[in-house]
Amino acid sequence: MTTAIRIEVLPARMGDCLLVECPREQGRPWRMLVDGGPPDTWPLLLARLQRLPADDRHLDVVVVTHIDSDHIGGMIPFLDSEFADEVGDFWFNGRTHLPGDPIRSVSQGESLVAALIDQPSARTRPWNLAFGGGPIDTGEEAGFLDLAPVDGGPRVTVLSPTTKRLTALAAAWYETVEAAKRGPGEGTPDVLEPLDDLAAVAAQESPRDASVPNGSSIALLLEHRGASVVLGADAFGTVLGAGLAGVAAARGLDTLPVDAFKLPHHGSKSNVIDAMLRVAPAQHYLVSSNGDIFHHPDDAALARVVTTRPGATLWFNYRTARTERWTDPGLSGRYGYDTRLPDDPDAGCVLELPAVP
Ligand SMILES: [Zn+2]
Repeated sequence: MTTAIRIEVLPARMGDCLLVECPREQGRPWRMLVDGGPPDTWPLLLARLQRLPADDRHLDVVVVTHIDSDHIGGMIPFLDSEFADEVGDFWFNGRTHLPGDPIRSVSQGESLVAALIDQPSARTRPWNLAFGGGPIDTGEEAGFLDLAPVDGGPRVTVLSPTTKRLTALAAAWYETVEAAKRGPGEGTPDVLEPLDDLAAVAAQESPRDASVPNGSSIALLLEHRGASVVLGADAFGTVLGAGLAGVAAARGLDTLPVDAFKLPHHGSKSNVIDAMLRVAPAQHYLVSSNGDIFHHPDDAALARVVTTRPGATLWFNYRTARTERWTDPGLSGRYGYDTRLPDDPDAGCVLELPAVP
């Protein structure tokens, strides 16, 4: 099997930290890091980066999907590390990029580090170069940004955020940064409900995600050598679904089948909605969470996946009491899905999508 896209979901507790590689026909693979998890993910991320080949530690793109402590915590020390010197381009919407600012782009010398940590820093990094230094903004709902492949790398399509979601972030910028600095706080004990009638669980009423930072998430579709994956960040299901529908329509399709889908917002029932699942049916669904604080993934979200997509495989980056219930052979047999859980709590999960000849 020739791997087209390799997706590694690192164990980042309740957060996200993904390493994505797209091997090319020749030369080193195209490589992308998506988020850094909460602050205590850094030692693990550092160890992972140190396992990259000594002569090839290049990261073509590092994405900071949105300002939330479970995504940027590990990114702050990363920016100070030697590995940040290996990054071709950082993708991140800072204050400068939000609607309302007359100049929506960064100039040479403007500091991404300062923008992220909200403190002055002389250190500069390549920032939104693929977007001419401007915002990563899909415009109207159902809009998307299509980036041409660079040097044999993948085709990347931006699915989120819309201008509307960035406008909301502009109005809440300072409180968003303050909340990210404070961190998520304490959680409550997780109460596990029995899983039986998944159609009923899927149909549970769920409030829509109204978090301003989540709505501003950068979500991406990656396509390479016939394989495809949606990296949903913590984006709104409505925005992702509309963006994917927009891509499908532009290609003259009713739906946009993909190989893999990293579920938005750690498998929250407020983000994983039927309309989104139907427009981009996948074979593999990835969940990044150990259930800390927010008790993700929600049963309703996973029930929607397996009832909408019979035959799919659920990939969890942690084995927890919550995720382990989904491996019950009676349940998975009845609903016709498969599961993959890591045995090593430090391993996360790795999905390799084959190239289509
Ligand atoms: Zn998150």
